[in-house]
Amino acid sequence: MNNNKQVDPTIFVIFGGTGDLNARKLAPALYNLFLDGWLPEQFAIIGTGRSQFTDEAFQEKLLEDINQFSRTGKAKKEVWSTFAPHVGYQLADVKNADSYKAFGQRIAQLEKDWNAKANVIYYLAVAPEFFPIIATNLAKSKLTDDADRTRIVIEKPFGHDLESARALNKLLAGIFEEQQIYRIDHYLGKETVQNIMAFRFANALMEPLWNRNYIEHVQISVTEQLGVGDRSGYYDGAGALRDMIQNHLLQLLCLVAMEPPVNFNADEVRNRKVDVLRAMRRFTPEQVREATVRGQYASGWIEGKKVPGYREEKDANPTSNTETFAAVKFFVDNWRWQDVPFYLRTGKRLHRSSSVITIQFKDVPHFIFPAEAAESHRQNRLIISIQPEMSIRLQVQAKRPGLDMLLNTVDMVFDYKGTYTNEAPEAYETLLLDTMIGDQTLFMRGDQVEAAWDLVMPILHSWQGRTSQNFPNYSADSWGPESAEALIARDGFHWFTLPLNGKK
Ligand code: NAP
Repeated sequence: MNNNKQVDPTIFVIFGGTGDLNARKLAPALYNLFLDGWLPEQFAIIGTGRSQFTDEAFQEKLLEDINQFSRTGKAKKEVWSTFAPHVGYQLADVKNADSYKAFGQRIAQLEKDWNAKANVIYYLAVAPEFFPIIATNLAKSKLTDDADRTRIVIEKPFGHDLESARALNKLLAGIFEEQQIYRIDHYLGKETVQNIMAFRFANALMEPLWNRNYIEHVQISVTEQLGVGDRSGYYDGAGALRDMIQNHLLQLLCLVAMEPPVNFNADEVRNRKVDVLRAMRRFTPEQVREATVRGQYASGWIEGKKVPGYREEKDANPTSNTETFAAVKFFVDNWRWQDVPFYLRTGKRLHRSSSVITIQFKDVPHFIFPAEAAESHRQNRLIISIQPEMSIRLQVQAKRPGLDMLLNTVDMVFDYKGTYTNEAPEAYETLLLDTMIGDQTLFMRGDQVEAAWDLVMPILHSWQGRTSQNFPNYSADSWGPESAEALIARDGFHWFTLPLNGKK
């Protein structure tokens, strides 16, 4: 593999090295970066946790994880034998300030062995309550003094509300330079998500149409078929608005709505995204009632299997008021988007897992075809499918073959699988590589996170202040509560779903 990114000697310290995120995402991503030749010759991965592991036992654990979760399948023996010696384990309780001395010693030893200074990336794959503790202890132990060479990666969730996000930003800003802080939203690392910028700003075709004069409305729909599973403990304190809309869906909205940046510089791109969040309409309590819908799933059947309702999941609160579905109609109050609704919806236990952005264009100003042709006539749509299908489709009208003048909707499709033979990297591969080369474009800046919290706070307050009377209000395998259909139907639209294998 030819790579054009220069990566310095790098040490990853993974807090939460024994946890689920490292097993399913980080370790496979690092292995695949190694496999594809992106890692420097001098690199080390140090997993940490309170569980007992020797270096060798931890290597064995990662091998099992990689074999199970890597997109490239089981590790090849010869590749693994060269990768494994780079992996080590450090027993540490993050609350114990003395534990951090051991990291300092290990880093110093590696730099001595390599005869080189290393970039050190501290990845916080632990529960959010540990973010401040680890950040403070790293600073106390003088492990992050070199602002050019040390970075800290903060997992989601970044704060629980505006106040806690501000407090965390303040704490981090007292310890690190902003250039050291990588707030992850893994959605931004997905190939199709990155492609939104390429599609919008590398093609002259779209820009003249990309505004309120031609776009009627935008839908961003991220649906999951899975329920909360055994994550009730975390999820019940969060809900769909915090877990998905405040971060992933609003980031997608920013990519659709942002003004063209002057260049691809990280701060320039992030400035344009913050502009969008700042321009978005803040809701009054009355507007929250009109523009939002929340739901919670009941039991039901999915693919022939009986599944429990949210309140019946393992360790769930049987009277929980937490929403597992949220739909919101947002507006971006600026020249480009005034009065164009942006409908966002997300939920668990829905009919299908998919992430799709639909941009619906306005109708033609005057319809010249015979009345029969009007029946099948549809407005143009641009459909950006993020997962599971990775594609961009432009739906246009064409003449149906035959002697009558009838119309048909046809798709002009750019499909990743059909266009490229090499498999797309996982989001975490892209993002981990970016932390190594110091590119923050795909990471959230502090003000961005706060602007997103600021936007959703009126909704959170309003929902917390009113217990929902009708939970559970949608059954498993549906598309959510009926009121979500009504939210968009009131404006004369309906939620678009991308047909999958003929299944609507
Ligand atoms: P997890 O499986 O519960 O892992 C937690 C990790 O924290 C374990 O490695 C545990 O190690 C370590 N830990 C707990 N207390 C510790 C202490 N006092 N000292 C040292 N280590 C300690 O959690 P996870 O699912 O990996 O999630 C980690 C973070 O990533 C969370 O913030 C989560 O929101 C975020 N995240 C996870 C996913 C995912 O797919 N899992 C996706 C997105 C974001 P020991 O038990 O060995 O001490």
